[in-house]
Amino acid sequence: MTQKIRVTDDVLRSIPDPGQGAILPKDGETNILITSALPYCNNVPHLGNIIGSTLSADVFSRYNRTRNRRTLYICGTDEYGTATETAALKEGMTPRELCDKYYALHKETYQWFNIGFDLFGRTSTAKHTEICQSIYLNLGQHGYLEKQIKDQTYCEGCKKFLADRYVEGICPHCSYIDARGDQCDGCSRTLDAIDLIEPRCLIDKTHNVVAQSSSHMYFKLDAAQPALEEWIKKSWKKGKWSPNATINADGEIVDARMKSGLKPTPVTRDLAWGVPIPPLGREDDKEMGGKVLYVWFDAVIGYVSITGEYTPEWKQWWLNPDNVRLYQFMGKDNVYFHTIYFPAMLLADGSNWTTLHHLSTTEYLNYEGGKFSKSKNRGVFGPAAKETGIPASVWRYYLLSTRPETADAMFSWADCISANNNVLLKNFGNFVNRALKFLSAQYDSVLPESGDTPGPLSPNDPLDAEFITDVNALLKDYIDAMESVKIRLGLQTVMLISSRGNGYLQASGLNKALMTEHPQRCAQVVSRAVNLIYVLSALIYPFMPATSDALLLQLNAPARVVPEVLSTDILAGHKIGQPDHLFKNIDEKMEQVWKARFGGDESTKKEEEAPTSKRKAKKAGAVNAAPNGVAVSGPKSPEAIALEAKILEHGQVVRGLKENKEPKDVIDAAVTELKKLKAELVLLEKLGNSAA
Ligand SMILES: [Zn+2]
Ligand SMILES: [Zn+2]
Repeated sequence: MTQKIRVTDDVLRSIPDPGQGAILPKDGETNILITSALPYCNNVPHLGNIIGSTLSADVFSRYNRTRNRRTLYICGTDEYGTATETAALKEGMTPRELCDKYYALHKETYQWFNIGFDLFGRTSTAKHTEICQSIYLNLGQHGYLEKQIKDQTYCEGCKKFLADRYVEGICPHCSYIDARGDQCDGCSRTLDAIDLIEPRCLIDKTHNVVAQSSSHMYFKLDAAQPALEEWIKKSWKKGKWSPNATINADGEIVDARMKSGLKPTPVTRDLAWGVPIPPLGREDDKEMGGKVLYVWFDAVIGYVSITGEYTPEWKQWWLNPDNVRLYQFMGKDNVYFHTIYFPAMLLADGSNWTTLHHLSTTEYLNYEGGKFSKSKNRGVFGPAAKETGIPASVWRYYLLSTRPETADAMFSWADCISANNNVLLKNFGNFVNRALKFLSAQYDSVLPESGDTPGPLSPNDPLDAEFITDVNALLKDYIDAMESVKIRLGLQTVMLISSRGNGYLQASGLNKALMTEHPQRCAQVVSRAVNLIYVLSALIYPFMPATSDALLLQLNAPARVVPEVLSTDILAGHKIGQPDHLFKNIDEKMEQVWKARFGGDESTKKEEEAPTSKRKAKKAGAVNAAPNGVAVSGPKSPEAIALEAKILEHGQVVRGLKENKEPKDVIDAAVTELKKLKAELVLLEKLGNSAA
């Protein structure tokens, strides 16, 4: 006999899973366009990047699908720029080859996390060049581009202009010797690399760096400012923006650059790997020959061009502000580019662009009391997540339940294990399994006649009024949270609903006795529980799509929408599938295993480097916590103090290099130097201790 499906069809989801159909907006409906910040293509993503934009945007995209809204989610890799060129040089490949390599890595990682893009594209396409150039030309035509000639740092060794991040020198303000090209760590002033005294090339310090003039095209942000301000104030209200770096909760613009007046900003670079500058038909065209667009100018257009790769009808999404709502997800450091820079470009372009409706940003996710660090191998990066054996669904649950929405959050293995064992398994999984197993064992998997008619359950139901009222109130909370992109709150509410389901089974005393003594009531309880599970399959879909699929398989029912109220949609006579456990217990002992596995090189090295001094320090009971985790016992010799100061200072340099994502060889050289200093200190301590 075939399995009987008896489900009301007006609750079914008609919008397909991400990537499963060419979706175009429809006039007069709510159409949702979603982007997440394009990850840079010379690096592996870590969990912080994933939670910050791609995963959060995926949740919102899937949520809108459960409301049967036409939804498009676009992302891809940001491939052009100096950093790619330099990384390619280092890895001994062309920029294109480097991007191919990292594009595949990014794509694979997101796929494993079940992050469903309609298209995960890239910016190094012909379509991208075409759209970037046309926007650039429009800016020129509308008087927003002007040429400026500026002195720039030029390296005679590298035979090229050096981007700010590849120059260091003496600060002209405070004489700090290791000032960076864009900022001085000594006095925190922002700098222009050309103003550094005795500039050094960070690729090779023996190179000779000189000043050389170069002409560049500048985008007159100042000319766009009045229209931009008006746009920001209007959009802030309409899209209900959270307070951010651009505008505060009272609707005052707080961005320092806007407050002091935006200035023209260069949009061309002396580079090979980028979008070539098209001729404007002006006298200064010749000077722009061989230059490319500034990477941020082209990166934000990537959202448009990747949509252009997805469908030739991309203008229906991007030039349709009356029918399309654009939601953009990003880390907090990208707010300027999405609320000021990109909108200014679109305003200056002059077409009727779909502009930002709502932006969602996150704070930082840290790792086990510290920071994620690729160079120290600290934390979980990209494909390594699957090596733990923790299913992607559980990863998603844990990351989303700690989403840093209002403050920085901390990743911890103990919390992750507890989320699986105590929330997913004991709450959500238990409710589903108890109800479905009972139905399977006692009713041969066929939903009994309960007396409930198809459609909403009455909140005045004499037996279950409280249960129905509670669930309906929680459903409203869920929808309110999700509509305002409060993703963590939405997820918490799902767990409250399944918890309410557990309470219901408990209070109703669902068991064999109930079935024999009160068959009608028992059938009612089972029907209501099963229908709540069906609702949960839609509520959990944005967060844990694989879990939602598993639920639907066990229910033997098609994907459904999120309802406003609890209703009877799976009807008497419906035959469910095979009940199975949704989650498995994780042994708590794994916390230590994973901590060691992902704790990075630092913790183990510390032990190796300074075992003697550490032990002795403990014995003496006087630990001087020296810089960079080198523990030494006091009292300290003058040499040791001097060396410690040097380590502290050099550690600062290394951190600066890493934060600026300087080329690996530069960082490696600095780290080697730092290790040498630390080894010296350890040696000094040993000598001192044996002498004493
Ligand atoms: Zn050089
Ligand atoms: Zn300074």
